[in-house]
Amino acid sequence: MKLAFFSTKPYEKQFFEKINLKYNHKITFFDMRLTAEIISLVEGYPAVCVFVNDILDKSLLEKLFENGVKLVVLRSAGFNNVDIKAAQELGMAVVRVPAYSPYAVAEHSLALILTLNRKIHKAYNRIRDDNYSLEGLIGFDIHGKTIGIFGTGKIGKTFAKIMSGFGCRIIAYDLHESKECLDLGVEYVSYNELFAASDIISLHCPLTPETYHLINQERLAMMKDGVMLINTSRGGLIDTPEVVNALKSGKIGYLGLDVYEEEADIFFENLSGKILQDDVLARLLTFQNVIVTSHQAFFTENAMNNIAETTLENISRFEHNQPVNLVLPKL
Ligand code: NAD
Repeated sequence: MKLAFFSTKPYEKQFFEKINLKYNHKITFFDMRLTAEIISLVEGYPAVCVFVNDILDKSLLEKLFENGVKLVVLRSAGFNNVDIKAAQELGMAVVRVPAYSPYAVAEHSLALILTLNRKIHKAYNRIRDDNYSLEGLIGFDIHGKTIGIFGTGKIGKTFAKIMSGFGCRIIAYDLHESKECLDLGVEYVSYNELFAASDIISLHCPLTPETYHLINQERLAMMKDGVMLINTSRGGLIDTPEVVNALKSGKIGYLGLDVYEEEADIFFENLSGKILQDDVLARLLTFQNVIVTSHQAFFTENAMNNIAETTLENISRFEHNQPVNLVLPKL
């Protein structure tokens, strides 16, 4: 199938080119994001492939449809960036990669926790500067702490398994309890208890209208003083200016973010040498107890191979009217 591939980065192109030898789709790689301004590029392509920061709202979907696009191929698990209802009304199919490596994201959440707790980021720089002092580097044992997991789907469940190795109490909140988590000894608690009882909170639910700004002033007030908050899910789960206030007051003691609500124009780009225009992100980056990574939790070789394989297979299956990983609107 002819596929217009947007937001291409060289490091992902190599995986898609290698795996496409098996599928033989006719892919044209564009490095820009898919926006209304460049809509003419999709002419003659029945399918477009997009990533997490390509925003396909109703108006852009209508333009795509007018230009002959029938299939929107997401090379991600999350699909909050596409108006699924509008796509369905237009008769366009949206497919995604429901699972590629829950380990990649769960392990990155752990990397953020350990780095923040044991201050590896500070120690790394300090020792490069021949400063071997331990002043200010004290951490805490994770053993015995209460870990709160919001969302125990594929990633949250994998994260629970990892954390159970530390000898923590693990509590969770989800709309549906996972048997695997219950078997591990995870205790499902109420929404409010999760926020009130956890020493470390890790978010693993999708961004939906119900979870938008889940972490807001009210929920922050419920949390333990000095809580560690980890978000590798979607930026919109957090009201970031409120989190900045909570960092200033010491309510949040540690913050690890792999995603940021306003990441679309920033993450995945090399902006060094430019002046950062986002004041909230700039303020976040002034805190020593904050680590921000640029939406890289998914980024392992295993995950990239799986993403390319499932994405290209989705297109072939769609072409041949076989069952495919369709995203359907919530009823
Ligand atoms: P999943 O669908 O397997 O699990 C999501 C879980 O969240 C489900 O158990 C669901 O019941 C629960 N949930 C949904 N709405 C909820 C609500 N309102 N309250 C409580 N729980 C709710 O998804 P997954 O594969 O585990 O991925 C989770 C999220 O991680 C994705 O939606 C995506 O946003 C994010 N993600 C981030 C990266 C990255 O690189 N940072 C990579 C992949 C996925």
